[in-house]
Amino acid sequence: MSAGPWWQAGQRLAILSALVDEQRGLIDHLEQPKRIEHAGRIFWLGRLHGLAVVLTVSRIGKVSAAMTAATLIERFDAGAIVFTGVAGALADQVQVGDVVVAQDFLQHDLDVSPLFPRYEVPAYGRARFTCHADLSAALRQAVQQALAGEFAQASVHQGLIVSGDRFVSGAGEVGALRQRLQQAGHAALAVEMEGAAVAQVCADHGLPYAAMRTISDRADDSAHRDFAEFVSQVASRYAQAIVNRLLIGLSDPARHRR
Ligand code: SAH
Repeated sequence: MSAGPWWQAGQRLAILSALVDEQRGLIDHLEQPKRIEHAGRIFWLGRLHGLAVVLTVSRIGKVSAAMTAATLIERFDAGAIVFTGVAGALADQVQVGDVVVAQDFLQHDLDVSPLFPRYEVPAYGRARFTCHADLSAALRQAVQQALAGEFAQASVHQGLIVSGDRFVSGAGEVGALRQRLQQAGHAALAVEMEGAAVAQVCADHGLPYAAMRTISDRADDSAHRDFAEFVSQVASRYAQAIVNRLLIGLSDPARHRR
């Protein structure tokens, strides 16, 4: 990956984690760490692999995530945002333990019909918000490199992720969600609760955005048990390995290619 005009040396990259567990290993390695409390949140400034970064946790749900993203941009001068977290599987080919890199995002609980087509965000004229192609490609490469070692059995997918203010945890519910989305022409790979909100904030600011989610559950009747077990045992290690790979690649494109 060669860093294009969208990424200037010296810019600050925001690493947004949905879960505290995912952030912990990153803070431990932060050079020149500076802890700042703002609006009830904790932001960590510093350097990782030679890159200026700001680390924070989004908290759960679209409002919390949008607020956090806006703060990263307006107050902490983020030049791009990378979001990590876990999600429930929606597509048949996506298994627990796989990773989905977002191509675009949609809010599955936004419905202003019949005034607007279902899922369309009024004033934007669209339902789907696309992630930054180059940053997403760099993230996908980092995911592949990180998984190749320790987690070789996991597959990497890239496509639509949907977000809504609901933990989807029932066979009936996830079936209905899939059907609604398909009827509107949206083939989604995974469901979570924050990514689309950050996508919209980044679109407002013209800021590069990329996101990845490790699949923790199938959004069905056992989702709550699978989720808790997965997060504590696997997701945090994935996220740390992937973010480290990404930062190494962005700080030294030549090393990343090898
Ligand atoms: N027990 C957690 C609550 C997690 S809520 C706590 O106390 O902090 C679920 C988180 O995982 C959200 O960040 C959401 O984005 C993601 N997620 C995983 N599986 C999901 C599913 N089936 N439906 C919706 N969100 C899911």
